[in-house]
Amino acid sequence: MIVDGFNRVHDYLRISLTDNCNLRCFYCMPEEEYEFTPASKLMQAEEIETIAKIFVANGVNKIRLTGGEPLVRKDAADIIRRLGALGVRLTLTTNGTRLHDFMDVIKAAGITSLNISLDTLDKDRFMLMTRRDQYDRVRSNIALAIREGLHVKVNVVAMKGLNDGEIVDFIRWTKDEPIHVRFIEFMPFSGNKWNSDRVMTWQQILEVATNAFDVLPLEREKHETAKKYIIPGHLGTFAVISTMSAPFCSDCNRMRLTADGKMKNCLFSTTETDLLTPHRQGMDIVPLIYQSIRDKQKALGGQFTTDMEKIETSKLENRSMITIGG
Ligand code: SAM
Ligand code: SF4
Repeated sequence: MIVDGFNRVHDYLRISLTDNCNLRCFYCMPEEEYEFTPASKLMQAEEIETIAKIFVANGVNKIRLTGGEPLVRKDAADIIRRLGALGVRLTLTTNGTRLHDFMDVIKAAGITSLNISLDTLDKDRFMLMTRRDQYDRVRSNIALAIREGLHVKVNVVAMKGLNDGEIVDFIRWTKDEPIHVRFIEFMPFSGNKWNSDRVMTWQQILEVATNAFDVLPLEREKHETAKKYIIPGHLGTFAVISTMSAPFCSDCNRMRLTADGKMKNCLFSTTETDLLTPHRQGMDIVPLIYQSIRDKQKALGGQFTTDMEKIETSKLENRSMITIGG
């Protein structure tokens, strides 16, 4: 078992397949012109499988594939198949644009739940936020995933002055469809135009929700990052991922592997541990994994607290979200 200095067992691995993406969400990409990592510098499919097996042998029972956009990687289907055979709970976070091409492989790999990102129900605003005309495709692929019987969570980064006026519409969407909307508080990363004034907090989202609906809280499961709610009579639910205002670090079980094979013990960690180079040199990477987790900070990578006014984005030491893998 991989345990850190605060007795937190780490059994959940998030693997980024690529830092490439076919959308350009401003809050995720760095400000400057960004060059995606060439394929040769990324973990190859076989390396992903072998490294994942090492984590599984050390107690990991859940793996999430993410990115960048995991489904733009040419060998994404092969990787999904390989990881589907590991006997862990496999899942995927995607922007939904390519899902229609992967539905068969997703189901064959035993994936039963998907996180699909969609920040707005307005086609023009989608274009503004992602700089790509893919709204209809994402909507039709969400509908497809539901028809195929998958548990669909919709990730919405809630931002003041941008999509905060759509909170009620998103919750209304859960009435007749089994959609699980998750509002995510806007988080700061290198060069992503973060400002505390733009964060729509858990408390503010809940206020909007309770003004419009009868809201009932649902029980929190262990390790869960989302505070979940239901409106009586609705097929779906909604939740808030309150990383900024009320983080859930105390029972964190997550580890991350970037597409270029660096392990991060926290989304906000200032350091990372190269696993790919030693793996390619034939070294045993298990001690490196354990050391990385022993070095894990108590909360938020030790970089900031919930006092958002005090966060100076220029002083944060981190990658941009697209290169970490959300
Ligand atoms: N491309 C896939 C997608 O968009 O779902 C997977 C990768 S993306 C980095 C994973 C999640 O991180 C998405 O739901 C995205 O909205 C979220 N995200 C990216 N930048 C964020 C930020 N600054 N604050 C909060 N969530 C963010
Ligand atoms: Fe791409 Fe996902 Fe980042 Fe948007 S949030 S730019 S879809 S990786």
